[in-house]
Amino acid sequence: MKAVITGGAGFIGSHLCDHLVAQGHEVIVLDDLSTGSRANVAHLEAHPGFRFVHGDILDRDLVDDLVAQADTVYHLAAAVGVHTIVDNPLKSLRTNLHGTENVVEAAVAHGVPYMVASTSEVYGKNDADGLTEDSDRIYGSPTKSRWSYAAAKGLDELVAYVHGTESGVPCVITRFFNIVGPRQTGRYGMVVPRFVDQALKGRPITVYGTGTQRRCFGSVHDIIPALPRLMATPEAYNRAVNLGGHEEVSIKGLADRVVALTGSASPITYVDYEQAYGEGYEDMQRRYPDTSLAARLIDYRPTRGLDAIIG
Ligand code: NAD
Repeated sequence: MKAVITGGAGFIGSHLCDHLVAQGHEVIVLDDLSTGSRANVAHLEAHPGFRFVHGDILDRDLVDDLVAQADTVYHLAAAVGVHTIVDNPLKSLRTNLHGTENVVEAAVAHGVPYMVASTSEVYGKNDADGLTEDSDRIYGSPTKSRWSYAAAKGLDELVAYVHGTESGVPCVITRFFNIVGPRQTGRYGMVVPRFVDQALKGRPITVYGTGTQRRCFGSVHDIIPALPRLMATPEAYNRAVNLGGHEEVSIKGLADRVVALTGSASPITYVDYEQAYGEGYEDMQRRYPDTSLAARLIDYRPTRGLDAIIG
């Protein structure tokens, strides 16, 4: 089998490359290296079944040419991370909307089964108790570029779903919930690598907001094997499937765990959301995945807890 992995030089994509190559599959990576790194796949470059293509998913002809050679497409390329999206809203929107359209249309044109990576952010801010027109508590609020990511990913799901149902080409949508592990960088605002980096450097660990907000971090090693299994499961086609971990922690609790596990002397400090992300920023208090659909479809049972993930 030959797979195209868009965003294959990124955090999740590079682990998928490792997994598929180890299983004897051929892999073609398409990545523009905007947030990914060639170093993430350097160990695979000598492998005869591995090919890296430096390019943009907005390049329709290139996407079409690569997808035509594949048996499966895993579409992971996206503009990600709060800072990337806030600093480059237009480029991010183009990548996350038109880039996905290019990949899905190529897959359908060539009859190649495809997976589209989505996000828990499509659930929006469901802990709202009152809504105003300019509220940040809606993922599509056009004045909040932060949430353009969630809005674009929501439309990506629709593009994937509509093409999948109309063409009959197998399509799976995966909603990732705060996935962490090796190769994830703290540069784009991801909290676990940022805390670990701050702790190891003895710098203050900066908790945004009050730290009472709760999250559930999933290990990349738990979710990767689930991806090809979902692609091989017809009951998963044309569905969105949650993937994540099960150990919930407050962000303050996470900071404490990182300090304890690294033996760091770093103090824990608090930064207003507005200072961290700009005016009007809010965040949801809790985000926890129900993964019972994945459990039913492919017996998905994440086994790695927070200590294993941080360690
Ligand atoms: P990442 O930044 O490490 O990976 C994204 C990759 O896409 C990078 O290698 C980047 O260089 C590449 N890319 C970006 N724009 C591109 C373009 N125009 N053309 C070609 N390549 C491009 O991030 P990740 O965490 O590995 O995310 C992978 C996917 O999973 C993304 O679609 C993301 O939205 C989704 N996701 C991740 C998480 C998470 O917790 N890590 C949560 C929800 C969703």
